[in-house]
Amino acid sequence: MQIPDISRTKSAELYEKAKTYFPGGVNSPVRAFKSVYGTPLFIEKGDGSHIWDADGNEFIDFCGSWGPLILGHNRASVREKVMEVMQKGMSFGAPTALENELAELILSNNKYIQKIRFVSSGTEAVMSAIRLARGYTKRDKILKFEGCYHGHTDALLVKAGSGLVTFGETSSAGVPKAFADETIVVALNDKDALLKAFDDFKDQIAAVIIEPIPANNGLLLQTPEYLNFLRDTCIQNGTMLIFDEVISGFRVGFEGAAAYYNIQPDIITYGKIIGGGLPVGAYGASAEVMDHISPVGSVYQAGTLSGNPVAMAAGIAQLTELLQPGFYEELHDKTAGFVKAIEAFVAERGYELKVFTIGSIFWFAFTGKETISSADDIDPQSMLKFKAMHRELINRGIYLGPSGYEVGFISAAHTTADLETTKTAIFDSLDIVF
Ligand code: PLP
Repeated sequence: MQIPDISRTKSAELYEKAKTYFPGGVNSPVRAFKSVYGTPLFIEKGDGSHIWDADGNEFIDFCGSWGPLILGHNRASVREKVMEVMQKGMSFGAPTALENELAELILSNNKYIQKIRFVSSGTEAVMSAIRLARGYTKRDKILKFEGCYHGHTDALLVKAGSGLVTFGETSSAGVPKAFADETIVVALNDKDALLKAFDDFKDQIAAVIIEPIPANNGLLLQTPEYLNFLRDTCIQNGTMLIFDEVISGFRVGFEGAAAYYNIQPDIITYGKIIGGGLPVGAYGASAEVMDHISPVGSVYQAGTLSGNPVAMAAGIAQLTELLQPGFYEELHDKTAGFVKAIEAFVAERGYELKVFTIGSIFWFAFTGKETISSADDIDPQSMLKFKAMHRELINRGIYLGPSGYEVGFISAAHTTADLETTKTAIFDSLDIVF
């Protein structure tokens, strides 16, 4: 049954003002609700699995600030640690014990990296990892995959997912041709295209970068066999393999996709969860590779707020909870049960919808296909169905990220009652959409 639209009066007022301050009224493009219905919702507060907007509407949130909030909003352990550290000052631009503490927590529980460097965003982590790979191999070209998003650094805004694909343009203006020429793009899950690129650019490719769990152009799950092929091909060609684990790191398990697939990349990048909701990114590798970075090595990389104590505190508090026995098992079981119930409903109704999932990530694909493993497998027209579903869900108090190309996240804070309410809302919404 169709229900009335929620009130967005205050959000609309704030949005009108914001448009006079910021391009498109936002500080990151997808937030503008361009590909879904209505004015963007201005969020006032979050607690556990719920968020509230400026009009007082309450939602069960499956965006989780685009991934960082694996424990939910305003988790007491994270908030208390942040407040404790803040009492002593916000930033020193000098080493603190908190950086050691977060590094120790990560490195002693992750066998895929030996040293790490903290930065302030996923974009910075990836940008630095690419520079490290180029410095290490003394080669210039990099290879990325169509649909993978690695942040907004020039060389990687070529055929990228996330906001670019949401707005129908997969490459950005303002990237010099000379930069883009150093980036080779191939389709995911296409071995021949990969081999041809290595043939065409023999001994020139510094690094292959991939989201091992591509989650920025829908959820384009790759087979373990393909990822192993990628690993082997890089080794054969003296090319570094970079796993961009800004989403998958600490999400599908504490050691991320590297452990999930048991593949050793040469460099791994992190972001989102690592900072507990504050701005932290990181990249890590073997000690031998990392020691190519300044001030030991000649690859320069720095940051005024890198390793910021308040952000480190949030990361320490959040990651400590993830290490509790059974944390991931419980989260993954909860997600699998949720997805299974939706799939059963869809099968019974005969709707053309698949819910792809891994760990606590899920993605609604309005498709009849059994698998979707590259950007080309997605019909852009299917996004109209997502748009219709998004509107119905918002009206029923369920908040998904405002783009059909983005994935949803389940957090430790989602309760059985939340998921029951959400399933009912999804079933009612799908009955209207189809
Ligand atoms: N890499 C991946 C896989 C991402 O999903 C993102 C952001 O969504 C980034 C890099 C960039 O991270 P940030 O937005 O923190 O700069």
